[in-house]
Amino acid sequence: MLEINDLHVQYGKSIKAVQGASFSVGEGEIVSLVGQNGAGKSSVLKAVAGLAPITAGTIAFEDSPLASGRIEQRVRRGIAYVPEERGVFAKLTVAENLRLGTTPRRDRAEAERDIEAQLARFPILRKYWGKGASWLSGGEQQQLVIARALVSRPRLLLLDEPTLGLAPIVVDMLFDFIGALPEDGVTVMLVEQNAVRAIEISDRAYVVQPPGRIIGQGGAADLAASPAVVDYLGFEPATRGEE
Ligand code: ATP
Repeated sequence: MLEINDLHVQYGKSIKAVQGASFSVGEGEIVSLVGQNGAGKSSVLKAVAGLAPITAGTIAFEDSPLASGRIEQRVRRGIAYVPEERGVFAKLTVAENLRLGTTPRRDRAEAERDIEAQLARFPILRKYWGKGASWLSGGEQQQLVIARALVSRPRLLLLDEPTLGLAPIVVDMLFDFIGALPEDGVTVMLVEQNAVRAIEISDRAYVVQPPGRIIGQGGAADLAASPAVVDYLGFEPATRGEE
């Protein structure tokens, strides 16, 4: 579904965040990028979202290239991006935030049904429906931005650090939720500090080391078989079934 080939991302003249990394994401997969702070993971996701300065390499979505910087092209083709900074519109209500996600859609009745489905999934959003989004806690805001992305009916969802700074119970809820997204036809590319949980719910993971280099990739068993990866991550990846 997504092919990233020999990607280079550079900020300004000297900050080389990604240096020739290649990634692929198959339809229906959850693929995560894990590794230290500053390794370049977010820059990869931003490049796919059209938000990072790409200096070389190609990104193709369903066999056709994504042009650099064309964000609306991504939205039209079914790519949704949830940034690390969350990005709720604090002055708008929860309802207005959610409806914004459906703006590009013409099938209004279906879009309303999708909003209802998200409210069933995230009841807190129904509770605060008419309130300003700034009323929501960090975890609740994260639920809102993920719901807002999903009501655009994306085929590929890019999630940057969705569990950062959240309480363990919310983290558990979000990981369970993300793990089930492929059942709803949503493919996921996930950047996560919580490498243990990310690898657990992923079909494959890429282990990224600064500055933007891949040192290992594959399922939990592949990663566990690489001493360099285990040493870098500081734990031996295991699938749920192996725990
Ligand atoms: P983290 O887990 O801390 O978010 P990351 O692996 O996602 O890290 P990036 O955010 O992609 O890494 O950052 C990679 C490098 O690029 C870092 O050295 C960072 O300081 C730098 N960088 C990221 N964004 C910018 C920017 N807008 N301008 C300048 N440098 C940047």
